[in-house]
Amino acid sequence: MAKKGDMLYAWTNDADIKKKAELGGAVTALWKFALESKAVDAVLVITKGTDLYDAQPVLIKDPKDLAKTAGSLHCGTLLLPKLIKKYFDGARDMKIGVTVKGCDAMAFYELAKRKQINLDNIVMIGVNCGGSVSAVPARKMILDKFEVDPDKVHKEEIDKGQFIIEYEGGHKGISIDTLEEAGYGRRSNCRRCKMKVPRQADLACGNWGVIGEKAGKATFVEVCSDKGAKLVDGAIKSGILATEPANPKGLEIRGKVEGAMLKLGEKWRKKDFAALGSHMWETIGKETSRCIRCYSCIENCPVCFTAAEELKKNSLMVKPGEVPPNPMFHLRRFAHISDSCINCGQCEELCAMDIPLALFSHAIRVEGDATFEPKLGKAAYTN
Ligand code: FAD
Ligand code: SF4
Ligand code: SF4
Repeated sequence: MAKKGDMLYAWTNDADIKKKAELGGAVTALWKFALESKAVDAVLVITKGTDLYDAQPVLIKDPKDLAKTAGSLHCGTLLLPKLIKKYFDGARDMKIGVTVKGCDAMAFYELAKRKQINLDNIVMIGVNCGGSVSAVPARKMILDKFEVDPDKVHKEEIDKGQFIIEYEGGHKGISIDTLEEAGYGRRSNCRRCKMKVPRQADLACGNWGVIGEKAGKATFVEVCSDKGAKLVDGAIKSGILATEPANPKGLEIRGKVEGAMLKLGEKWRKKDFAALGSHMWETIGKETSRCIRCYSCIENCPVCFTAAEELKKNSLMVKPGEVPPNPMFHLRRFAHISDSCINCGQCEELCAMDIPLALFSHAIRVEGDATFEPKLGKAAYTN
């Protein structure tokens, strides 16, 4: 019997899932079992659209449709929780399974704190996350640094500190450090992120710590809740999932990698926040003066659920249609959102004017989080 706290290597016996899966297909197999056993009514996951730079959300109800959603998309920067609030009534009457990165998991907890999501009806399978890359810079990086036509790339992965591509005619890997020194690589919010193993999910899955003959063929699963243990047990009994206890040496390695990633996240925070220095409000004023008031930052923030229509209304200082808006437009936004900002980077990545908005709200939140309880994204969150 699986139980909370178990550390396992897991892989699927389903041939279709295995073909498409990132590392043995445990995640997709668990979803297939969850749908077949009616543990969930639907599964909301990310899948490849027109190419690997085009990550799309898809709601799956038929277990036969799951195999095509397997695989990791490192250019998949979008978040899923707000879609559940917006289109599925916050999971009030529907049980939904969701594959989550750390930022997705935190967004669920923040929305639940604000009573926008019924967490009792959500099952989360977490994937460890070393970071993701925006689609447009990824194409540019592949062209400039790998000297490969991005349209010829059919697979990308991040492994052992390298960004690796497979393309017609070969494969190439370049260290993330080298790419980041040259201004490419992971998004800046991901560099600052310290939610590497999403233990607020029911299961946390990833490749860190899979060693020996199972390396590349299985996923390391940490069982984080009773709900997660029940799912693993059922999937094993149904025959779709196979497991074995994680190799103790692998467990040790996983801990070391996680520790190194947390240190790296802290280093980037220090660097990015120090650059804001004591002039933060001056910098915010200067940068936001480019704002064209497109409301993208509000629409795409996974934890902001105020309708943009509300914010378009007149207020004392923010006049409808005024461009650039009075600085109060952004100050109100920061005041409204910073205590829940999960540093997911959506506001910044989708800003039409390239304003570093996530940096600002993250800096404000980290300062606030040093003082306030409960901590962001669940009490156990390590800031
Ligand atoms: P599969 O059965 O192949 O299923 C993968 C699941 O991930 C599917 O449900 C799919 O919809 C979902 N998915 C794909 N792309 C995204 C996305 N962008 N956002 C949300 N869900 C997505 N593991 C580590 O140990 N270290 C890492 O540094 C690491 N970085 C990762 C970064 C990203 C952006 C992602 C998506 C995953 C990362 N992983 C990392 C996890 C690892 O790549 C595998 O997803 C995990 O081991 C499960 O493998 P699997 O074969 O069981 O999954
Ligand atoms: Fe992954 Fe964190 Fe970036 Fe989210 S913010 S994509 S969890 S590194
Ligand atoms: Fe994500 Fe920006 Fe919203 Fe923070 S303010 S949660 S970084 S979209």
